[in-house]
Amino acid sequence: MTDPRYMRPGVDFATGKLVEELGELQAALGKSIRWGRSSFNPEVPADQRETNADWIEREIDDVLEAIENYRREAGHKPVKAMKLSSGVPRPTDEDFRLAHAIVDSDPVLRIYAATEWDCLNDDGKTWLAVIIREARNHLIMATCQHDWRPRPFHLDLHCSKCGLDRKPRA
Ligand SMILES: [Mg+2]
Ligand SMILES: [Zn+2]
Repeated sequence: MTDPRYMRPGVDFATGKLVEELGELQAALGKSIRWGRSSFNPEVPADQRETNADWIEREIDDVLEAIENYRREAGHKPVKAMKLSSGVPRPTDEDFRLAHAIVDSDPVLRIYAATEWDCLNDDGKTWLAVIIREARNHLIMATCQHDWRPRPFHLDLHCSKCGLDRKPRA
């Protein structure tokens, strides 16, 4: 447990604290590999000694506390929404604006169990923005007067108007 006297607000301080605690956990893990889990620091007075295994546990608690503090100071961005960036494009600001307008529109809000945009968390906003973007893309593709053209290094034909790909006719 960190003495609150040594804590300050702000993400930079929280980042520094997390880096330090990760280093302390690494030191405890390293000592336990080199000298064993039941070994202890001989430089520490006998009445204050702890085993490396207990030290590791103490540093894990410190790291978890530092992670919690870091997330709080950094605005606690949800990890799930971040994972979207692998493969699936994140909604743009424009996607979010459109989703906001649709979610808060009269016909949608009149539906039982409808939730106002500002009452959704970041995961919910991202989810809806992607659903609306994909629905829009499907509609655009379905109504496009496709302009099929070959692309360099691609076997399929591509419509530059809607982005759809089509297998070339044999
Ligand atoms: Mg520590
Ligand atoms: Zn098209």
